[in-house]
Amino acid sequence: MNASAVRWTALTALSSAALLTAGCGSDDGGSGGGDDGLTVVAGFYPLEWAAARVGGDRISVSSLTPPGAEAHDLELTPKDVAAVGEADLLVYLDGFQPALDEAAHSEGGDHAWDAGRAADLVSPDEHGGHEEDGEHAEEDGHDHGDEAIDPHFWLDPTRLASVGDALADRLTELDPDGAASYEENAAALRADLEALDTEMETGLAGCAVDTLVTSHDAFGYLADRYGLEVVGISGLSPSQEPDPSQLAEIASLVRERGVTTVYTETLVDPAVAETVADEAGVRTAVLDPIEGLTDESPGEDYLQVMRANLATLQEGQSCS
Ligand SMILES: [Zn+2]
Repeated sequence: MNASAVRWTALTALSSAALLTAGCGSDDGGSGGGDDGLTVVAGFYPLEWAAARVGGDRISVSSLTPPGAEAHDLELTPKDVAAVGEADLLVYLDGFQPALDEAAHSEGGDHAWDAGRAADLVSPDEHGGHEEDGEHAEEDGHDHGDEAIDPHFWLDPTRLASVGDALADRLTELDPDGAASYEENAAALRADLEALDTEMETGLAGCAVDTLVTSHDAFGYLADRYGLEVVGISGLSPSQEPDPSQLAEIASLVRERGVTTVYTETLVDPAVAETVADEAGVRTAVLDPIEGLTDESPGEDYLQVMRANLATLQEGQSCS
């Protein structure tokens, strides 16, 4: 990682835009933790939250996805693109927000940091327990070439903890004076996330219904972690709308498996999920994929919304 730190320093020295950013103009080998701290730009809420927790008061962090906006379909203004170029660190998730991927590749240079690299991302087929995919015979699980990768890792708290640890390392490269602080903050974040993980594991251990029918395919990692099987009505992105035959198929699966609740989402039009619920004669409840926070989010930060999701799931999946 030394080489990349050196390259980053060289790039910074060459970039007049970055020279204007506080703490970045020094020649002392990239110790960017100057007076005003590091400027960190995050792609969307969970990355912003994790960065704020790990960076503490040594960084200032902002999110490119405005509150209430649908994160997948993020569009960047020229100002946003400039912010990506000027930040000390961009924390993004490659493959999740196409507009930001583009800006990260064109403007991000060595200060673009892909959180997915620390999250052990897999394709939807690699999530466990996809019994209905019986016709999908490949057992290798790794050679799916162009197969889409499921980006929604943050809904498994243990994966978010790993991203926090890796982020502490990355921030330390930029600001070696903050090493102890970043390490301590990441450990505190991990402790909170592991406590949440334990609660979720206990709370979802005895559910009568294992099949989780959700609006878009965001909950694969959560389902994997806690022994549920997710059926997303839309695809990996909420904009992939299902056709009528797919809807009918999901409705009959709902009836077959005794599913009592179909989940809608905070930031996505509930119409499609409601159609499935109506057709199958079951109710709906709101599950939050935490792609952004709004006033309507069932909590004020990641941990609170996850606990609200746990309560919703315990009721909707009939957990004892
Ligand atoms: Zn999503």
